[in-house]
Amino acid sequence: MEKSAQPASMDNALSGTVTCPACGLLCDDLVVENTDGNIKVRQKGCAKSVTFFERPQQNPSPRIAGKTADLQSAIKKTAEILRNANQPLITGLGTEAHGMRAIMSLADRAGATLDHMNSNSTIRNTLVLQNSGWQVCTLTEVRNRVDLLVIVGTDIVSLFPRFFERHVWNEQSMFGQDTAAREVVYLGGRDIDTTPGISPKGVQPGILPCDIARLPEVVAALHALVSGKKLLAENIAGIATGDLQKLADRLLAAKYSVIAWSAAALDFPHAELTVQNITGLVVKLNNTTRSSGLPLGGNEGDISANQVSTWISGYPVRNSFMRTYPEYDPYHFATARQLDSNEADALLWVSSFNPERLPPSCKVPSVVIGHANMTLAAEPDVFIPVGTPGIDHKGTMFRSDNVVSLPLAKLRESTLASLSEVITAIENALKEQQAC
Ligand code: SF4
Repeated sequence: MEKSAQPASMDNALSGTVTCPACGLLCDDLVVENTDGNIKVRQKGCAKSVTFFERPQQNPSPRIAGKTADLQSAIKKTAEILRNANQPLITGLGTEAHGMRAIMSLADRAGATLDHMNSNSTIRNTLVLQNSGWQVCTLTEVRNRVDLLVIVGTDIVSLFPRFFERHVWNEQSMFGQDTAAREVVYLGGRDIDTTPGISPKGVQPGILPCDIARLPEVVAALHALVSGKKLLAENIAGIATGDLQKLADRLLAAKYSVIAWSAAALDFPHAELTVQNITGLVVKLNNTTRSSGLPLGGNEGDISANQVSTWISGYPVRNSFMRTYPEYDPYHFATARQLDSNEADALLWVSSFNPERLPPSCKVPSVVIGHANMTLAAEPDVFIPVGTPGIDHKGTMFRSDNVVSLPLAKLRESTLASLSEVITAIENALKEQQAC
């Protein structure tokens, strides 16, 4: 296999602005410096981006059963594992669009099932989108339009650190809005960091706290109030009904409200019903004013994986090619279920952005294709290190808002192959083995 020969965009020099894939915001204004292969974030970073870019460059060898192996042997062994499996599971899927395209092609040839490491969260949104659709906006619309931001069940910044800096308290907007006059309200959650919601003028955000597990009733109550219903209860999950009524009135009076949530934070049974109440509330508001939902996601390439899977197979993950045609089933094709029920008989785990996202323990033959800095708790049958998208090779990634894709740059020379190169080589080896 030939490694791609892209030129390094820089060596021992400050970059122009680059895109950071460490969270779904994909901030495209970072300035980084490459000193002999080690990257330093010099401008516009956050702690998460520093962790991502400044990991020391490593170049481990592939391993087979814990022993150092050459790349071709590791690829051949992986193809053998896939060929000998009846129902292989390719999961993790921490990659960008080109890596995911290669995975889709391999899954088709191997008859594999696909799942993403973040699917437990993303499914909460997907189920609503499939069932009733939704009215959501881009981050650009937030930057330029929002006058009232309601945040449900999260502080946003623990998952998306520069959200307020880039999209709420931005000094300039396209239509001359006084962005510092924007209102922010946190609805639900406890002990979350609400200081980023303080406006540049020092205005405190509204805070209506409740336990995350009680959000379903709180959001349903807000939906009812916005719809003009009267509630007899004096409080909902500890929030005074009068305070919820005031929030409903503010939403109805706003010119462009945005209701944001992160599905990852809505970690309770049937959270999709709460997402559906949020989106139903947005629909109701649009009868008389303008409002949008803002589902925040995109970490570890989850939105990129779903986009590529949908345009190629017609379905987002969780889907499967085991019957030779694509099938979709968010329950049966879950990684945990596939392994616990012994339906999957081989595991291929992919995590190219994050060395800390490790595969689940399993008793079936396993392959890990991962970040070079990955330290595994249990040695898989095959380990293949790959370059990191946005550092070691180019890529394309979808932003949190689903419709904007951004290019990832190559920032340094690396001897590591990209995930798409490795996966394509595995598919070719599998094709040869199947022909024998
Ligand atoms: S907020 Fe997210 S995308 Fe922006 S710099 Fe920080 S980690 Fe990177």
